[in-house]
Amino acid sequence: MYKITATLFVSGISVLFLVLVFRKLREHVFAGFHGKLDELEEQVNLLTEAIGEKKKALKILPSRCAKISFLFKTSKHLVEVYDPDEVFKFLIKCSKRLFPETDNILLFILRKEEDSLELVRSSKGQNIVIEEKQGDILDKWVLRHNNSLLVKEIKSDFRFDYNKVIPFIKRKMVSFMASPLSVGDKVIGVMRLESESFSTFSMEDLRILRSICDLGAVVLERANLFKRTQELAIRDSLTGLFLRNYFFDRLKEEIKRASVRSSSIGLIMVDIDDFKKINDTYGHVVGDLVLKKLAKLLREVVGDVGNVISRFGGEEFIIFFVECSKSGLFDMAQQIRRLVEEEVITFRRKAIGFTISAGVAFYPQDGNNSIELVETVDKRLYKAKKEGKNRVCDR
Ligand code: GH3
Ligand code: MG
Ligand code: MG
Repeated sequence: MYKITATLFVSGISVLFLVLVFRKLREHVFAGFHGKLDELEEQVNLLTEAIGEKKKALKILPSRCAKISFLFKTSKHLVEVYDPDEVFKFLIKCSKRLFPETDNILLFILRKEEDSLELVRSSKGQNIVIEEKQGDILDKWVLRHNNSLLVKEIKSDFRFDYNKVIPFIKRKMVSFMASPLSVGDKVIGVMRLESESFSTFSMEDLRILRSICDLGAVVLERANLFKRTQELAIRDSLTGLFLRNYFFDRLKEEIKRASVRSSSIGLIMVDIDDFKKINDTYGHVVGDLVLKKLAKLLREVVGDVGNVISRFGGEEFIIFFVECSKSGLFDMAQQIRRLVEEEVITFRRKAIGFTISAGVAFYPQDGNNSIELVETVDKRLYKAKKEGKNRVCDR
């Protein structure tokens, strides 16, 4: 009996022990299993999210590819573009095509001399009037930060006071994207796209717009440099007037045109009286100021519609006028002479006056070609000098 009881007791203890060991083992195994399960669940969630993102990306991929391929195709011809106006056209055309949901597109160029933006081209809806010809606070933000800008809804954008945003006040535009046209740190313009609907533009759109503007800016900068180089070759650096060779080239062209049309050309040659004395008395700096003053005056009086003003020599200037009468030409020369007489240069609180003498010649009466005409006008100028200076000779 004792033996049986002992055996049962030992068996009971063993079973209990086995049950405990089994439970512990199960807990351990399940704990590991749960951990693994959580981990797997986490991974599934991440993968689902990633698949969602990829699906979205795949959805926009064809349109993105189409946009990039369009950009690539249209930008190829930019290699040969040296005209800023062509670049403006390219920028507007690309933006219109790539962002068809845009209502208005505005392109501003920075005018260094005035330190302000200037609207150079736009694409806008019917009856839309753009009043902000020098840009708005949004464009100025882009200009100052040299950064692109995305505004999904102007009223909820804390960066801007929507009561001061002209396109919102005047045209009810609510979403915007804008990009600088910059080459490195140098900003040369701003392009703004606007829409009457909320959240029209995405970050992806902004990135594409920036690429277009970067491309346009480089071509524009090259076009500007090319233009400046050309200008340097034909313009005098002190007065900004055309150089002698350019004057002769243009005069020859105009004579050809006038002979076909049987029209006339007038020439005035101007020389500062006793200029050497001005240099000797006040120094070359004052002499240069006198030259600049006369050049400015000539530009103001003559204007530049078809007429060409040139610095012919040291203190000698020559002008040709297209389609003018003989008496009109003489009156113009007299007007220049009188205005110069009234002009003064202030240097060290001293008023310095100067005068000019001028010769006048007329095509076809006074010469058949540019050389003959310039010889005649030069002779008449010489005569004006001999007769006492500060006068005009037309014969
Ligand atoms: P006239 O009344 O007979 O025309 O006498 P003028 O003294 O004006 O003429 P002249 O030919 O004797 O002297 C012209 C001077 O112009 C000589 C030259 O040093 C000066 N000159 C030429 N180019 C420049 C320039 O770019 N700047 C300055 N300051 N002087 C110049
Ligand atoms: Mg002189
Ligand atoms: Mg002279």
